[in-house]
This record gives sequence, structure tokens and C-alpha cells, in this order.
Amino acid sequence: MTASRGTMRVAWLYPEHLNIYADRGNLLLLERRCQWRELGWEVTPVGLGDALDADAHDVYYLGGGQDRDQALCAADLVAKKRDALAAAAERGATVLGICGGYQLLGHEYELGTERIPGVGLLDLRTVRGTGRLIGDVEITVDLPRVDGTTTGPHALAGFENHGGRTILGDVAPLGTVVHGHGNDGESGAEGARRGQIIGTYLHGPLLPKNVWFADELIARAVGVTPAELPPLDDRLEDAAHASARRAAQRSAPNHSPLARVRARLGRG
Ligand code: GLN
Repeated sequence: MTASRGTMRVAWLYPEHLNIYADRGNLLLLERRCQWRELGWEVTPVGLGDALDADAHDVYYLGGGQDRDQALCAADLVAKKRDALAAAAERGATVLGICGGYQLLGHEYELGTERIPGVGLLDLRTVRGTGRLIGDVEITVDLPRVDGTTTGPHALAGFENHGGRTILGDVAPLGTVVHGHGNDGESGAEGARRGQIIGTYLHGPLLPKNVWFADELIARAVGVTPAELPPLDDRLEDAAHASARRAAQRSAPNHSPLARVRARLGRG
């Protein structure tokens, strides 16, 4: 547990390079929800060449990025920050990677003859496919909590746009695709999770469209259960979540295992 006496402390890795598709909105959302609840909030930008403190933060955050920016950050991440990131995860801090950031948490991202190394905190690798996997996406996740309970099945909705296809090794997916492509467009798996090391392809940004998930992160960071967080008026946030789910249902093919069985049986 990473209790921080009422302050959520976030390390924002490579804010200048890993920040596409409004991924900085994830941090703005966390900041607002902490402030509305009179919880403290600290965000520390950690860029190329900077040292990373394994003990100073509750969440280590990596957003998405173009291949070129990823390659730039990957070399630095592996050389300068991998050990601290691993130590932080070991003590129970959250490591959250979105899309390009997610890919860098695995062993490597292979683009033809080029190989972008990852930190290997998640047993997975990514290869460049033909064409991009783009569109609105909805997945179902059930996350364990510190107290031994789980969140129960919940929808995460967002937007994906990636050329990489991620192949999981000995690691669980974050969730199951209901609508959209997910890790590779065919397995029905989306993202990956080992303990509190979480990777997902969901931009959106992710957290404003899924505030239940944001509150799981906040609660863990400040050492309470989500039920103990002061409630907020989430009517707009709930509407954003519902709208993102509707968009996924309207526009993206359904790759859930059930849908694939139905399609095979001619009932798709
Ligand atoms: N460059 C990576 C890919 O295309 C990640 C893109 C992203 O972060 N959206 O697969």
C-alpha cells in the first residue's frame, strides 16, 4: 500500500513526448477529483535524462506516443528509469501505461527491422501490423483491490489508434473486448495487468470517460477504499461514460469471445 496521508503523488513520465490524443486529460481529471475532495495533489514531470524516484510517487504514468517519440523515450526509460519503475511497482505503486506507454512496459516493440526496447515489467511484446486499429472501444474489467475484494465487472470505454499488435506472454489481459479491436484485433484481449502495473490501449482520454477507474487509483493512492472517498456529483461524468459506450457500440465491430462464437454459428 502506498498511503500518502491524503495526497496523491503522480510521476508524469515524458510529458513532452508521450501525450497524444489528450492523454494529459487523465492527469487533469485526477487533479480535479482530488481538489474537489480536498485531497492533496502533486504531479512531477519526469523527462528525458531525469532521475526517477522509486519511493516518491503513488502513480507512475506514461501516455501514448508516435513511434518516433516512443523510440526516443524507450532508450532513456530502459537506461535510466527501469530499475526505479520496477522498484516502485514492487512496493505496490501503480504504473499506468496508455497505448505507446503500454507498449513500452513490455519487452519490445518491433517495427520491421527496428526494435524499440521496453522495460519488460509486463510479459508481452508488440509487433507492427498492416494498417492501424482505430475506433471507439469498450472492454469489461474486474480489478482486484488491496483489501482482497474486486471492483466487480465494470465497463471501460475509450478510443484506440495503434499500429502495434500486442501479444501477451505470461500476463493477464486488463479486460475483455466487448466492442473494438483491443491488443491485436482478434484475441478479444485488451491491455495487460500484473498487480498494479496496468497497460491499456484506451485513449479518450481514459479517466474522464471512466471515473470509477480514476477513483480506484485515487483511493489506492491515499490509502482508503473507494467507498470512503467523499462522493462527487458525477452526472456529467456518467453521461460521458454512457456516451463513450454508445459510440463504441455504434461504430466498432464486436470482438468479444461470445460475439465471435455467434458469428461462427451464423448468429452474429
Ligand atoms: N506508436 C504506437 C502505435 O502506433 C502507439 C500509438 C499510440 O500511443 N496511440 O502502435
